[in-house]
Amino acid sequence: SVPLAFFSGIGAGSKQGILFKGGVSLEAMSEIKAVVMDKTGTITEGNFVVQKITLTGDLKEEELLAYCASCEQFSTHPIAVSIHSASVERGLSLKKPETMEEIAGHGIQAIIDGHEILCGNQKLMERFHVDIQNHQEASYGSEVLVAVDGKLAGYFLIADTIKKDARSAVRAMKKMGISTAMLTGDGKATATAVAKELAIDEVYARLLPQDKLNRLGTLRKQHESVMFVGDGINDAPVLAAADVGAAMGSGADAAIEAADVVYMTSYMEAIPISIRIARAAKKIAW
Ligand code: ADP
Ligand code: MG
Repeated sequence: SVPLAFFSGIGAGSKQGILFKGGVSLEAMSEIKAVVMDKTGTITEGNFVVQKITLTGDLKEEELLAYCASCEQFSTHPIAVSIHSASVERGLSLKKPETMEEIAGHGIQAIIDGHEILCGNQKLMERFHVDIQNHQEASYGSEVLVAVDGKLAGYFLIADTIKKDARSAVRAMKKMGISTAMLTGDGKATATAVAKELAIDEVYARLLPQDKLNRLGTLRKQHESVMFVGDGINDAPVLAAADVGAAMGSGADAAIEAADVVYMTSYMEAIPISIRIARAAKKIAW
């Protein structure tokens, strides 16, 4: 049976927009030693804006954007949405790809007007043997590289912002004796910059969904009891595998379903607040 104190904990959470799916999730949360977070949408706002376009081939800026947006128009990834928005702002007309595939943690491969278009990160380019030897990863922001018929045609610099309360949330967790880690599919430069800015203890970049799952396994061995916080479709398996899985507000349905705890808002402060509620409930219960 679930001690009464846990029901009051569930009530306290709901007032703060924190949905505990049951007394068991509260109890598990009272014992976690480390919080592992996804970057995009969890630590950052996930509201990407195209900041800069660089051309490396014969295509003009609007042609590059039209190709890329034609690939990205059906994707719900925040990066894809920003590319699509930029094309809409410029009034570009988009094409319907003949074939299209979204590759998790990489980007998109499509055929448009008989040309093979790749839009995504360095890993996508490496996977399809596109020469990016002369390409230097930006020190901040996410990049979407675009290749046409196997040649790099240009790239977009897309910037996201760190949530305003991220720093105080990480500090609060540390004060509670909780270690912090960040997992991301994004590049090393951006990941390191964000982790450093927030003083997050450990950072792992360029991870595919399967790598995130493996890393979580290692962290669970090191820290005994680990909570994972994420928001994306890709995060669902990691949420399910963690001792406590927490889905961040307005996340993907799959993430919300796999989670033990749901933060209805996207404030990062919800993380330490929920742990505090869980610990208080546990103290009263026993
Ligand atoms: P995070 O772990 O930061 O939440 P994801 O696992 O969702 O990131 O994606 C990892 C990386 O894969 C992104 O930073 C981006 O470089 C690339 N990516 C994923 N989907 C797309 C897409 N539709 N278009 C372009 N790039 C993408
Ligand atoms: Mg994400």
